[in-house]
Order: sequence, then C-alpha cells, then structure tokens
Amino acid sequence: MKKILQDLNFDELNALCDELREKKYRAEQIYHALMLGKKISETTTLPSSLKDKLLEEYEDEPVKIIKTQLSSDGTEKYLFSLSDGGLIEGVFMRYKYGNTMCVSTQVGCRMGCRFCASTIGGLKRNLTSGEILSEVLTVNALHGGDLKKREVTNIVLMGCGEPLDNYGEVVKFLRCVSAEGGICISPRNISLSTCGLVPQMYALADEGIPVNLTVSLHAPDDESRREIMPVAKKYSIAEILKACSYYFDKTGRRYIFEYSLVSGVNCDDGHAKKLVKLLSGRPCHVNLIRLNEVRETKLYAAEEKEAQNFLKKLTDGGLSATLRRRLGTDIAGACGQLRAGYTEGLE
Ligand code: SAH
Repeated sequence: MKKILQDLNFDELNALCDELREKKYRAEQIYHALMLGKKISETTTLPSSLKDKLLEEYEDEPVKIIKTQLSSDGTEKYLFSLSDGGLIEGVFMRYKYGNTMCVSTQVGCRMGCRFCASTIGGLKRNLTSGEILSEVLTVNALHGGDLKKREVTNIVLMGCGEPLDNYGEVVKFLRCVSAEGGICISPRNISLSTCGLVPQMYALADEGIPVNLTVSLHAPDDESRREIMPVAKKYSIAEILKACSYYFDKTGRRYIFEYSLVSGVNCDDGHAKKLVKLLSGRPCHVNLIRLNEVRETKLYAAEEKEAQNFLKKLTDGGLSATLRRRLGTDIAGACGQLRAGYTEGLE
C-alpha cells in the first residue's frame, strides 16, 4: 500500500519538501490543493516532475466514493473504498445552521454492541488520520465547498468504528481538521462519540482539543447495559460518569448521552426513572433516538408513542433531553448498513 499524503500535517509536508529538495512554497501549494480535496494528479499548480515523484510513493485518492444514496430529507450517504479495498461509510446531513459530515474512524469495529451493524464482521483495521480527513475533504469538495466557504461546517465521529479505540490517529485527525490554514473546523463544531472507553476519555480531556464529548449510554444501569454492550463488562457507568465530569472540568463542555430506544429492552417507565436519578444535576444532555433496526440483530425500535412517553418522563424529571429525528432512514440510515449490504452483494 502506498503512503497517504493527507496523513502529513503542514510541518511534516514542509519536511517532505525539504527532503525532496523542493522549494518551501511547494509545501504550501500541495497543502492547499489537498485541503481543497484535490487529487495530486489534477493539481495544476505543481510541475509534473514533482507530481510524478509524489505519486510514486503516495496515493492519489486515498478514499473514493463508490456509491451514493440520496434520502428524501436531503441526507446523503456514501460508501467509500480505501486503497486496500476496505469499505467505510460517511453521511452528509443538512441542518439549518450548517451541514454535518459523519465520518468513520475504523473499518469495522470490535466493540460488539448488539444493536449496531458496524461491528457485525469485527474490526478489520484502523483508519489513518489522513483517511479520516479525506472523508471530510472529499465531501466538502463534492458539494462545491472550499476553504473560505465550507460546505462541511460540522463533524461527528459517529460512523463505523469506535474513535477512542483508534486514539492516536483520531487525535491527529482532530488536530489536522481544526488547524489554521486548512479546512479549519473548530473543535466546538466537532462531536466525538464513544461507547465509553474510560482511560481514553481522560486522555482526550488532557489533549487541549475541546470537542463535544458524546457517550453512548443506552441503559440506566450496568446490568442492562451489559446485555447490549459488551464494553459495559469492562467499565461501569459510575466510572464513565466520573470521566465525563473530568472532561467537563477540563474543557467546560457539557457532555451528551446517546440513548437508542430499543423496544422491550431499555425504555419503560422504570428505565426512565433510573436514568433521571442517574443524571440529575449533571451538565449533560440526553439525545434519544428510536433504534434504527438492523436486520441481523432481532432488536426492534420503540414505537413513536413509547419514545415520546420516555422523553416526557426525562424532561418531567428535570433532564435536558430531546428525541432526535431519524435522518436518512429510507436509505438504510443506521451506521454500517450500507457497507454490510454491499459486502453481501445485496445492493
Ligand atoms: N463507536 C462510537 C461511535 C459510533 S456509533 C459509539 O459507540 O458511540 C454512533 C451512535 O449510533 C452511537 O451512539 C451508537 O450507539 C448508535 N447506534 C449504533 N447502532 C445504532 C442503531 N442501530 N440504531 C440507533 N443508534 C445506533
């Protein structure tokens, strides 16, 4: 496999140009072209001798859109192929305040959450920071965005994979995507979602990149959480809440809990009561979403009425909570479903 130029930050690109005995301004030109989502082969500002040199060692297109699905609500879902044939997904969502890109951080996932399609085949490999960055740059360019007028204004790390299980590359990605002179998306407009890898949550709090932290909770107590999330056998909810408080102290950012409503599993009145007790008085918000059903799992979404009732119980109990719209459900909205379908030849 060739190397990935987007893995290099601006300083590393400068060092590469020194090594190749190229002038300093070439590093700026290459960086600018990459940030615009251009392929090296298409770049008009570089001499072909330099392009040839780069392309001998580096991928021209590290992530390639091989399939796009459009939803009636404007959501777009992409299947990307990587240079080794790996498949990941990305989603582009339009909101009033800007457009959000949902990126993948791993090919597959090893967390084993029972309701999630991304984990069905296990973990294939980690993405590099440059591959994750390329998902954003490619989609920004696809919609006609550049560095002044960005079409991707917000990022969520909620695609395939567990971001904190690929810690080093994900942190490098966060630094590169928010760097001045690049696409420069502020950490405040980035949300990182984790199933609750406690040590890495502490480490992230100390990085000085104040992204919004989202934790996939999905249950109000350890026992029920263990039934749907194997990671709950390793870290308790109490440990997770302690790490969230540390994150809040370090960054000043309110944290968010994701809670997918699964019929008969986590959303009766008893669960609501426990959740209120657990989270009362914390600087947090609860994002409810009705489960996106995944064919393989035999878990079913809560009815709309049940979901509304659960929401009311939380807000009556004093929690800040919302029931999220399910965007893109008509295009197999749940993460991992497009990839799984393609792999099995169902598409
Ligand atoms: N691994 C990370 C991020 C990926 S998933 C995490 O666990 O947070 C992004 C969010 O979608 C998580 O909250 C995850 O629990 C949720 N999710 C996964 N499968 C889902 C499904 N079928 N329906 C609804 N939400 C789902």
